[in-house]
Amino acid sequence: MDRSAQFLKWVKESDNIVFFGGAGVSTESGIPDFRSVDGLYNQQYDYPPETILSHTFYVRNKPEFFRFYRNKMLCLDAKPNAAHKKLAGLEQTGKLKAVITQNIDGLHQAAGSKEVLELHGSVHRNYCQKCGKLFDAKFILNGTDLPVCDVCGGDIKPDVVLYEEGLDTYTMQKAIQYISKADILIIGGTSLAVYPAAGLIDYYRGNKLVLINKSTTPMDGRADLKIEGKIGEVLSQVELP
Ligand code: NAD
Repeated sequence: MDRSAQFLKWVKESDNIVFFGGAGVSTESGIPDFRSVDGLYNQQYDYPPETILSHTFYVRNKPEFFRFYRNKMLCLDAKPNAAHKKLAGLEQTGKLKAVITQNIDGLHQAAGSKEVLELHGSVHRNYCQKCGKLFDAKFILNGTDLPVCDVCGGDIKPDVVLYEEGLDTYTMQKAIQYISKADILIIGGTSLAVYPAAGLIDYYRGNKLVLINKSTTPMDGRADLKIEGKIGEVLSQVELP
């Protein structure tokens, strides 16, 4: 049986699937990832993206942070692709228990997924650091300078986890719970290079770890099944019951 057929058979037989994904899940929606050849790490800026997206940089150079953030991280016109939609469909049938994502674009929810664990936060939530008022992503995008609260004048910070910042403990624990109980763990569109998220793979105890990526990852050897291809195309082949 070829890899694709094996994958479809496992999915058909299981009712406890968990998906863990990264920026590669949204490239087919037109949002660039970080590490592909046309990803953000291979474009030229005054500073590398991981420097701009660090807590230190945010604190010291907010104007440059928001210039990059508005231009490159806020892709508010992007629509869910076949991968987001199929995962939402699999959840609706009861076969998929949770989507665990490193993405901050909200496209899983836009596709209809309900149980979405956002390890790195979301561009759609932005909080005033003084009074706590919540702002949407449009408010940040449409501003021209530093976003400030229209009530108290405090600085507004996107609810995204920057480099050097810790992940939310509750979200991480829930992700560990889902992964440790999963029958099938599908990992897709992630370079598995960003920790602690990449370490979640260690909590899987089953024997159906499926890795879907268009390139190799440092964890390919851990997969029971590696499918090299575009995640939207691979998941499109899954038939919903
Ligand atoms: P990454 O850029 O490090 O790796 C993406 C991986 O996906 C690469 O291995 C690439 O080969 C693969 N890929 C790209 N398109 C694919 C496709 N169509 N099908 C299958 N595989 C594909 O991304 P990462 O591992 O998620 O880590 C980067 C960090 O960047 C994350 O923390 C995430 O928060 C953030 N990020 C998020 C977004 C987003 O929200 N859409 C976009 C860029 C970066």
